Amino acid sequence: MERLWLTLAAVLAVLALVAALLASRSPEPAGPSPEVRGGAGLGDPYYPHAGGGGYDVQHYAVQVRAGAPGSELQGTTTITATAVQDLDLVHLDLHLTARAATVNGLPATFEQRGDDLGVRAPRVDPAKPALPGGGVFTVTIDYAGDPGRGAMQNLGAYYRAGNEFVIAGEPFSASLWYPANDHPSDAATMDFTVSVPKGVEAICAGRLITHGADPSEAGRDRWSWQVDAPTVTYASFLAVGQYRIEQGIADGRPFVHAVSERLSASDQSKALRWLAGTPSAIRRLEEYLGPYPFSGTGGFVGGVDFYWAGLETAMRPVYSNRGIGSDDLLNHELAHMWLGDTVTLAQWNDLFDNEGLASYAQWLTATDSDPGDNFRGVYSAGSRSFWSPPLSDPGREHLFERVYDRGPAAVHALRSRMGDQAFFAMLKVWAQQPGARSLEDFRRHADDATPDDLTGFFREWLDESDRPAATTDNGVVR
Ligand SMILES: [Zn+2]
Repeated sequence: MERLWLTLAAVLAVLALVAALLASRSPEPAGPSPEVRGGAGLGDPYYPHAGGGGYDVQHYAVQVRAGAPGSELQGTTTITATAVQDLDLVHLDLHLTARAATVNGLPATFEQRGDDLGVRAPRVDPAKPALPGGGVFTVTIDYAGDPGRGAMQNLGAYYRAGNEFVIAGEPFSASLWYPANDHPSDAATMDFTVSVPKGVEAICAGRLITHGADPSEAGRDRWSWQVDAPTVTYASFLAVGQYRIEQGIADGRPFVHAVSERLSASDQSKALRWLAGTPSAIRRLEEYLGPYPFSGTGGFVGGVDFYWAGLETAMRPVYSNRGIGSDDLLNHELAHMWLGDTVTLAQWNDLFDNEGLASYAQWLTATDSDPGDNFRGVYSAGSRSFWSPPLSDPGREHLFERVYDRGPAAVHALRSRMGDQAFFAMLKVWAQQPGARSLEDFRRHADDATPDDLTGFFREWLDESDRPAATTDNGVVR
């Protein structure tokens, strides 16, 4: 018995020694892995610093407290996003000054350089990146500042006059009032809650959810808006001032029209009569583009001097008061609800997808589907400079120029080349598939819709700096 016990004790001792040795060798002592940084920009060919890499925003919950023009705007915005790779450092765009940040509810450190905000997610396990690829996370930023101050003003996204201010602009405007992945390739749903002094109105993109006394602060009102289909950040806007508002339901959809009371009473009435044409314009556009992609509609006419005529902000385009009465303008911006706001750009040099097609939809609605005169008007433009630079790469300085006339002309030529049946079927399918798409995607989509090879056609119309020759292949001669 004794020997047995001794033997057993010896075996156990050896086993214990081996186990101890193994335990000391394995696993390796845990050390921190290198920090994983999402890019400080998405590398867009025209705006490389726009947005941030490594994640995909699902939703923005934006809460701001606004006062008179020139006063500080305070905000708390929560972004819900999916990490598309392992991440520790998340880059957002924000023009105002960040005050505090949390990631998944945990306090986070951050650094702000210009309009770039890098938020460092705290690691729960020092050996692992804070945000594993494929996982959903939230970032909450507290911030404040005067959106009208600083360099972004030069981009024409902040406007003020009297007691009114409006933040709206393309390619950038969102980061003037909330942190964002400010690039068209990342569409998301959004809700906006704006606290304003009592009696002041706050108008945004989206459906009006509630408005009334701000329950969290006496003497203030609160307005809540919601964009319930994913859209791009430049399709949001904030307007604070005094507005004449009309709302109701048309074609089963709620609408809200708002017109600045800085306009004369007769201009206000004229603007509201004009905006009342929105539902019928949408019905006409649906014939070409298929079902309208949002749950609400409306229009906004500001009392400030926008440097553009209109902007396709989601569910509620922003119109310059110079454009009141223009059906072309109404049709153009509403066409963007499909073409730009829900079918979005992959990069800014894909802008033909937005403006070429929306301008053509505008031509179609204005001419009862027969814009031959519009086409001939553009095609007969003789100057060499008119036909350059190419639409597929106009350069950042010329991005928003010839795409409004050579763009729809190219689309009309495409229709001539494809034939009406194939063309209109192709257009509707394109407009009904939300998501980020490139110009190359559009070429392929059109090419797949016809037995012809459209490579040469698109090269002539999109890649060259000369007027395409008057040939059948170029869609100029039927
Ligand atoms: Zn447009």
